[in-house]
Amino acid sequence: MMMKNWLSLFAAGWVWMAMAGVRGEGANAQPSEAVFAAMIKAWQAPAEPLHVAGPIYFVGTKGLCVWLITTPAGHILLGGGMPQSTSLIVDSIKKLGFKVEDAKILLSNHAHFDHVGTLAELKKLSGGKVMAMEQDVALLASGGKTDYLFAKEERLQFPPVTVDRALKDGDTVELGGVKLTAHRASGHTPGCAVFTMTVEEGGQKYAVVFPDGTSVNPGTRLVKDPSYPGILEDYRRTFALLESLKPDIFLAYHVDDFGFPAKRERAAKEGAQAFVDPAGYRKFIEGRKVKFEELVEKEGK
Ligand code: ZN
Repeated sequence: MMMKNWLSLFAAGWVWMAMAGVRGEGANAQPSEAVFAAMIKAWQAPAEPLHVAGPIYFVGTKGLCVWLITTPAGHILLGGGMPQSTSLIVDSIKKLGFKVEDAKILLSNHAHFDHVGTLAELKKLSGGKVMAMEQDVALLASGGKTDYLFAKEERLQFPPVTVDRALKDGDTVELGGVKLTAHRASGHTPGCAVFTMTVEEGGQKYAVVFPDGTSVNPGTRLVKDPSYPGILEDYRRTFALLESLKPDIFLAYHVDDFGFPAKRERAAKEGAQAFVDPAGYRKFIEGRKVKFEELVEKEGK
């Protein structure tokens, strides 16, 4: 139980921060090997796929979310999970009655191994086009080797993938009557992206936000000798963007960021209603923003 709590905190990025505080190493502490191994295990463990709302389905793992958005003209996959998770994602798509070959668009939320690890393989399997925010294109092509933190951490890298369409802030991604808007949410990676869309379920419309870019990995420098020039301003701009959005439903990429385990349990009876959580969204963003500013202040001292 203790371990589980630690894991969920860790996946959300807090344990790295908490450990940094305990060790007094600022934002530069690294997780222990045992914690790292347990976290990776949860990220690669299988999970049942699930219908969420309208055309949106969950096809991720126990710890990580991958979103399948279906249309009559083919499908969109948002996020990709760990490099070892391709077969789990493909199986989940099949279980729902869809085919990976129909995935026409593969969207990157941000170029880290736990979210784009399968993209190269899924691109081969599906022939789909990979799309990412333009500032992450080079990072995706390098397989993470140009990352501002993980350039020398081979185990935190992923199979390189070529982007077919570089997205700019405000661009839309459209397929079969479905439209997503891409918002630049730089900081966590230079081309981190937040996607928004509207879905319909049972005659009701829901604003959906896929928030990202709120956590700070250990070793990131925001103030002194910044990890990249402008990272502090980028993060603050990302928080302002996220605060400006008013979703009915928010779906993140780590299950604990939006209470997925409890929501999916309720969804068995309540359907899409189980995911309606505007207050939870505001609480999530506000909490992350407070933590971020604490890190900034600590580093400035
Ligand atoms: Zn990341």
